[in-house]
Amino acid sequence: MAVPMRQAARMGAYLLKQRLAGNERYPLIVELEPLFQCNLACEGCGKIQHPEHELRRRMPVAQAVGAIEECGAPMVSIAGGEPLIHPEIDEIVRQLVKRKKFVYLCTNGLLLERKLDRFTPSPYFAWAVHIDGLRERHDESVARDGVFDKAVAAIKAAKAKGFRVTTNTTFFTHDSPETVRSVLDFLNDELEVDQMMISPAYAYEKAPDQEHFLGVRQTRELFRAAFADGRRKRWRLNHSPLFLDFLEGKADYECTPWGIPSYSLFGWQRPCYLMGDGYTATYKELLETTDWDSYGRGNDPRCENCMAHCGYEPTAVLASTRSVRQSLRALVQS
Ligand code: SF4
Ligand code: SF4
Repeated sequence: MAVPMRQAARMGAYLLKQRLAGNERYPLIVELEPLFQCNLACEGCGKIQHPEHELRRRMPVAQAVGAIEECGAPMVSIAGGEPLIHPEIDEIVRQLVKRKKFVYLCTNGLLLERKLDRFTPSPYFAWAVHIDGLRERHDESVARDGVFDKAVAAIKAAKAKGFRVTTNTTFFTHDSPETVRSVLDFLNDELEVDQMMISPAYAYEKAPDQEHFLGVRQTRELFRAAFADGRRKRWRLNHSPLFLDFLEGKADYECTPWGIPSYSLFGWQRPCYLMGDGYTATYKELLETTDWDSYGRGNDPRCENCMAHCGYEPTAVLASTRSVRQSLRALVQS
């Protein structure tokens, strides 16, 4: 199952509606974090460093659904922590799908097979399984042996039951064009996942491993070399073509973090999923009280090396909609 046409059509209609209404800032996807607890402790993770009493908290279903309804985004990416630890995660997904939101449930895969029966395949629902590399590389990244094999088995089990399965891969300084290609070739051609997301790692201040985050120049060099032989077109990447151009340095954009906002147990996070400069109770308040011009490369030193999807994919998507040629390119590659 490729990206459902209904998802592309719905997103197109949503963007058109926002433009016609003259809205300058609006959400495309919400990063929903209904808990911070995880069953892994990856070295590059900036989400599991909260104190124990915060790690034990779970977001009620009504709060999660209410936040998504208030902001109106058509897509939701549920992250954490490990969302499958949340005892009502299936109900959160069910309620969002019922409201025709396109839901991606991010998971490290360890609990996926055990919880699969609590979910139902739907064009509105996809798994997004964390795979940072082939066996040795992934197990090193998540600091536990055997996780790669479990995640691969979970992907196969979910596909066998008719679910749409995507993956999410983060790259660090110890990656090379060859490791990028080997993992994407494996996911695309051998596992045949529906789509793949890629990202350079963001240097979370709280992450224990601060040495392996890519800078802008390194990110561009890595992706330019990895994409060099035309494989980019063959891989089923879940990104707009302009965002991939951005990753390999063919285009540069300003960050638009209001396009992929983050809602967690603390509220709407300012300014984005990666940095926490305070929280608001509503998305409206986040929009109205954040000094958006003070973020992004050149404005905030913490943003200097960021090329993350949550800041720059919305910019690329919005740029696509302003050009007929780029809109067609996005459609052809989706
Ligand atoms: S699986 Fe995800 S949430 Fe869990 S420790 Fe690793 S990066 Fe953090
Ligand atoms: S550049 Fe944008 S997405 Fe990246 S950390 Fe800064 S505000 Fe967040």
